[in-house]
Amino acid sequence: MRKVINIFQRVFNFGSSPASKRVHQPTIIPRQQHCISRQHISPAALKVLYRLNKAGYAAYLVGGGVRDLLLGYIPKDFDVVTDAHPEQIQKLFGNSYIIGRRFRLVHVRFGRETIEVATFRSSQDSAARVKTKQGVILRDNVYGTLEDDVWRRDFTVNALYYNIEDFSVIDFTNGMEDLKTRHIRVIGDPDARYREDPARMLRAIRLAGKLNFEIDKPSADLIRKNRELIAHIPPARLFDKMLKIFHSGRSFEIYKLLREYQLLGILFPKVEHSLLDSNFDTFVEKAFINSDERVREEKGINSAFLFAVLLWGPVLLDQQSILESGDSNEYQALYCAMSDVLSEQIKLISIPRKFTTVIREIWSLQYHLQHARAKRVFKILHHPRFRAAYDFLLLRAEAHEGELTELSQWWTEFQEDDKELRDTLIKQRFEKPKTPRKRRRKRAP
Ligand code: ATP
Ligand code: MG
Repeated sequence: MRKVINIFQRVFNFGSSPASKRVHQPTIIPRQQHCISRQHISPAALKVLYRLNKAGYAAYLVGGGVRDLLLGYIPKDFDVVTDAHPEQIQKLFGNSYIIGRRFRLVHVRFGRETIEVATFRSSQDSAARVKTKQGVILRDNVYGTLEDDVWRRDFTVNALYYNIEDFSVIDFTNGMEDLKTRHIRVIGDPDARYREDPARMLRAIRLAGKLNFEIDKPSADLIRKNRELIAHIPPARLFDKMLKIFHSGRSFEIYKLLREYQLLGILFPKVEHSLLDSNFDTFVEKAFINSDERVREEKGINSAFLFAVLLWGPVLLDQQSILESGDSNEYQALYCAMSDVLSEQIKLISIPRKFTTVIREIWSLQYHLQHARAKRVFKILHHPRFRAAYDFLLLRAEAHEGELTELSQWWTEFQEDDKELRDTLIKQRFEKPKTPRKRRRKRAP
């Protein structure tokens, strides 16, 4: 029956997507001519591929896994595609779950590793089913062929298929060439593809930054043209995208690209303006550079910390204008500014409460690290967020030479588990002869 439908599609060329009209001959790169070795594919992914294949289904590795293997990197995860339908996949694997509503996928679990298995997907969703007057489905757009699956993918370098049957790589879109010349190129018309899913613009930038690739000119130009569409991405999805960027280990490069393509101002409307102050600019850059180093050293990073860094400039600017316009003190103004900035930001990127709590703690501890009285310094030291707040202070000191150096040094020494030293430090800091407080002119970042 499926065969009949396929013939029908070809003869009558149903469907309006440019993808479905393309009839391409793929390039097949045999095993001897590419560098993917099964040794570098996770045993779990191999098991899934082999079992599908043994049961008579087509099974391929696709997406970032293939791309990274061809570039000689160790992939983060492995995605599998097949012509088996979700229920058929599930039958083959005891430890599997069907997920997703609009397009169902199967997650196959092996201990801590999950392999995502998708059925070949056509480029249109289920709303576009073609039926006769009698309601007979002529074309079910949900599932497609391998070729359909190719055209719905985002970039040529992400649409390479590793065939478990003969270990060849199938390339419909000239992705191999783009990998060699290090280009991110949208499959199909970039304008239409970005409009279809504006998150692809962010994906292009993330990949270009992560792999040190160049975005092909039309694909790049159309990001500039369509950048406002970024604001239409659901806030929860944008939050996930930001986490991926933060954890990429190349967040500094991606951040620079986001600025170059003027996307940062759309994602974080208040941040762009604050970066005109070179102190904030340096502060943010240093944070991303340090964070990437931590990822490389496999130390784990705190995403709340990076959100706190990005939004610190707007908080201080807001605090300043609250102070200028009313009768609140520095602390009250800081609190109002924190709430203002966060409530505006979460309309665009829904940063969960778990994170905003940490962000607020890091910010308010900045005040306490600076202004706490002698009695409270131990309380601050034992605050669960002390470490993050202290790192934040160090960064501020580094970015703004001079002003906060002394304070950060004080906290560095105070952390030593040495009672005598601590007593001396407290004396030095809090028993100074009181001089009238001068109003500071220049703000530290
Ligand atoms: P990473 O290495 O960061 O995981 P990835 O390319 O594998 O990068 P995934 O989000 O894991 O990214 O997606 C897997 C594959 O699914 C992609 O390589 C791409 O082929 C396809 N894909 C993902 N998101 C989209 C999208 N928005 N539009 C079209 N295709 C997409
Ligand atoms: Mg992936």
